[in-house]
Amino acid sequence: MNITDCKTTLNLHECANEMYQLIAELYPICRSITGNGFRETLRRISKRIPLTVHEVPTGTKVFDWTVPREWNVRDAYIKNSRGEKIVDFHKSNLHVVSYSVPIQQKLSLNDLKAHLFTLPDYPDWIPYRTSYYKEDWGFCLSHKQLLAMQDDTFEVCIDSSLEDGYLTYGEYYLRGESTDEILISCHACHPSLANDNLSGVALATLMAQELSKLTLRYSYRFLFIPGTIGSITWLTLNESKVRNIKHGLVVTGVGDQGKSTYKKSRRGDADIDKAAMHVLKHSGHEYDIIDFFPYGYDERQYCSPGFNLPVGCLMRTPHGRYPEYHTSADNVGFVKPFALADSFSKCLSILHILEHNATYLNQNPKCEPQLGKRGLYQIIGGQADRKTQEMAMLWVLNLSDGCHTLLDIAEKSGINFNTIKNAAYILVENRLLNRS
Ligand SMILES: [Zn+2]
Repeated sequence: MNITDCKTTLNLHECANEMYQLIAELYPICRSITGNGFRETLRRISKRIPLTVHEVPTGTKVFDWTVPREWNVRDAYIKNSRGEKIVDFHKSNLHVVSYSVPIQQKLSLNDLKAHLFTLPDYPDWIPYRTSYYKEDWGFCLSHKQLLAMQDDTFEVCIDSSLEDGYLTYGEYYLRGESTDEILISCHACHPSLANDNLSGVALATLMAQELSKLTLRYSYRFLFIPGTIGSITWLTLNESKVRNIKHGLVVTGVGDQGKSTYKKSRRGDADIDKAAMHVLKHSGHEYDIIDFFPYGYDERQYCSPGFNLPVGCLMRTPHGRYPEYHTSADNVGFVKPFALADSFSKCLSILHILEHNATYLNQNPKCEPQLGKRGLYQIIGGQADRKTQEMAMLWVLNLSDGCHTLLDIAEKSGINFNTIKNAAYILVENRLLNRS
């Protein structure tokens, strides 16, 4: 079975349900850029795909960065003077600022306030905060919780550890016919946040599962990494493999109800950019294409000038453009199965183009070959289809001069890649076209 068969037979509804279930399963785990939550997440993904788990020691130099100490948290709370827990890590892991150093202390409300974070505009939501690269501690809580706190002596406890350990990441390499690779990368370092991090994790996992059943032209490399430091670490340790990466996608934020967004690679005109734009343009849905900018997710590292890899980013509403982003409102209910299905389908269509895109040569380049005598004007049923199919054949014949790929021809003609690809396959069968 190849990717075309997969595209036509795949049950997207079932696929979305599986993604949704995986998101719900991973949601309660307290993840950070290092630590046992990340390991547990990889362990659950490993039940679905054969991940290789890498452990990189604290202190390892990775380009201009250093692998940080490993952070783990067991408990965190704020108690009032009556001994009541008014903020409890076990109710939401967002309550503790990620990478908080351990603390056990009694404080007045005033002194405590310097360590409290809320969202006054969304008084029911808990913000998500981190302090990875500065030793600090803090609590995130709803603004309502803060307003309910009266002057008192509070007992604060963060039972965490920040010590030498490892940075953990997961990798799945799927061998295709060629050693040329397509990279699929997602970050898996956020605690209970569903769209930001887990939707990308679920899409990458299910995509790996589906692709592993197929005969593939490209090899695929799936990375489940902590954001920023994970891609920097991978690039440092795998610099020799980078030249195999011919196309790549960072997938993140693919489960919200917003329209699909594709952020171009730094190159801007890579095949991945053309393929993604083609798929969105022909999807029949609203979409956004944005140029590369040096902020966002791990595409920042893959597209740093020393690598400049053809890696774009597939998402729905960009980070920071929806109020639920980095808050407790980015929960399992915020992610929609129909949006996951749609993102999965678009991602598969992009890979489908890359798998089939190639340059062909017209074997009868002097004037048009006579298609009628070969029966090529009736090859596909349906009048409207037939007209498009004929046009597709004429476009393919005319532009198959060794300088245009099928995707270029699809773009020039305004005809869907699938139709162009099918026309090319028919012309090959009729010896009018050869793979260049
Ligand atoms: Zn995030």
